[in-house]
Amino acid sequence: MRLYEYEAKQLLRELGIAVPNGLVASTPEEAGAAVLELGGDAVVKAQALAGGRGKAGLIRLVSTREEAEQAGAAILEATHRGERIEKLLVEERVQVARELYLSISVDRLAGCPVILACAEGGVEIEEVAAIRPEAVVRRHVDVLKGLRTHEALQVARDMGLMGDDAVALGRFLLGLYAAFVQLDTHLLEVNPLVVTAEGKLVAADAKVILDDDSAFRQPFYRIRNSEPGLSALEREGREKKLSYVDLDGTVALMGNGAGLVLSLLDLIRHFGATPANFLDTGGGASRAKAKDALGLVLKKAEQDPRVKSILLAFSLSISLPEDAAGGVLDALAETKSRVPVFAVVHGTRAEVGEELLRSAGVRVFPSIQEATRAAATA
Ligand code: GDP
Ligand code: MN
Repeated sequence: MRLYEYEAKQLLRELGIAVPNGLVASTPEEAGAAVLELGGDAVVKAQALAGGRGKAGLIRLVSTREEAEQAGAAILEATHRGERIEKLLVEERVQVARELYLSISVDRLAGCPVILACAEGGVEIEEVAAIRPEAVVRRHVDVLKGLRTHEALQVARDMGLMGDDAVALGRFLLGLYAAFVQLDTHLLEVNPLVVTAEGKLVAADAKVILDDDSAFRQPFYRIRNSEPGLSALEREGREKKLSYVDLDGTVALMGNGAGLVLSLLDLIRHFGATPANFLDTGGGASRAKAKDALGLVLKKAEQDPRVKSILLAFSLSISLPEDAAGGVLDALAETKSRVPVFAVVHGTRAEVGEELLRSAGVRVFPSIQEATRAAATA
């Protein structure tokens, strides 16, 4: 789950990481009052999950109550990459001498955390990384040994920092790594990590993605247990432990396996149509779960007039035809489909699944290509 900046900073502050003092505001008046309380120069920041707020004009430097109210009013009317802005973070202004970049994320290929660091942080970091990849320092961390002091200092030296700056960076990085472990994060990114005029390090921005598989032991999930901005169907999918994502095309679909479903998305486009959703039931789904899944797809077709067909693809190995196709039968017995349903079934006792689907009025095809073409041109 992705966190807003103010939530991320609150968690980091509790773990002893230096972040600016700040207050959350939901109205221009609250933003104005916050500036008074912070006492002078401040920054008004749109709270959005997507990055690039600075370049979009959604980070404003203000000094008075009036300026904060104006900035707050303008930002609260904005949308950022499709998100409505509902909250502002008003922070005391940090005096920037230098902007660094620091992140810790999971390197899935290497199977361990990876630190990325760059002495040229700030809003142009993507360009720096693209044009001069050598300017970005990468270092893997052995999870059993943890990040050791000399390794953290080496990152600082590899960034080109020296003396007190290197020591400060090393210390900050050790704290950040401890937070990465403590919070079970997929990503912990600080950009910019500001070096102030007095040589202190402060996290001026923070991006945190929590690992939802750790929800059972992370207190934050008691505050918020799902990402904001999910559609009603996406929320229902989470509740039913299905990977469902709303898209805006014409073919609604489901399959048992993320790879299979991703291939369907490509094939639908190949045949000139567009997918209306992503939905993976996972391998070995029970009859009840398959029913829930098709229930979501039927609702999607019902609610979204753009949907022209439904496509089902089952690859049976750990899934049984009685479960995968049986669930479809159950869902169609409850809700008749507004649009034609196409399917392909492969694998163990596929013919049993095909027969069940045909009995429910589903048009079954021998190959994934033929089924997808039929659904795409329906
Ligand atoms: P992002 O564009 O969504 O990543 O938002 P950031 O929080 O990183 O802010 C973008 C830029 O605004 C930073 O790189 C800084 O240059 C500037 N900025 C943010 N906070 C402060 C601050 O407290 N003081 C100063 N001087 N600049 C800031
Ligand atoms: Mn940033």
